[in-house]
Amino acid sequence: MHMARVRKARKTTRKVISHRTPPKPIHWNCKRGTCRFCGDPIIENDKPNTRKHWHQACAELWVIMNNPSKAREHVLKRDNYTCQSCLTYSRYGQFDVDHRKPLYEANGDHSYWQPPNLVLLCKDCHKAKTKTDMVLWRAFKALD
Ligand SMILES: [Zn+2]
Ligand SMILES: [Zn+2]
Repeated sequence: MHMARVRKARKTTRKVISHRTPPKPIHWNCKRGTCRFCGDPIIENDKPNTRKHWHQACAELWVIMNNPSKAREHVLKRDNYTCQSCLTYSRYGQFDVDHRKPLYEANGDHSYWQPPNLVLLCKDCHKAKTKTDMVLWRAFKALD
């Protein structure tokens, strides 16, 4: 009886959006012809396009922000398959995408999910960073 109740409770908490998911842009429910992401009108060949809901660049950015494997693809290419901590290059190596500023601090700030906050680390460096993250970030903030 008691066990069943516990299991039920766990199922409902799973649906809570994690802090790893960026919040929907404030323009999300805007009308067609304006961009869901930035809220600006969609202009193509000097004319408004009233059918579209996304700027190409805004759509690509939103995909990177929401899809960890797309983010990985982007950061692998940008950082040229090189760990940004130990500078090991490996075309087929095992890498992780690390958030310079940790997501738990994001509090809805979209920049935390965007490429300037993403960095490529090899598995070993990522493991080490995660371990010392709290210490490092306190020191970093003290410098600020
Ligand atoms: Zn846009
Ligand atoms: Zn490394």
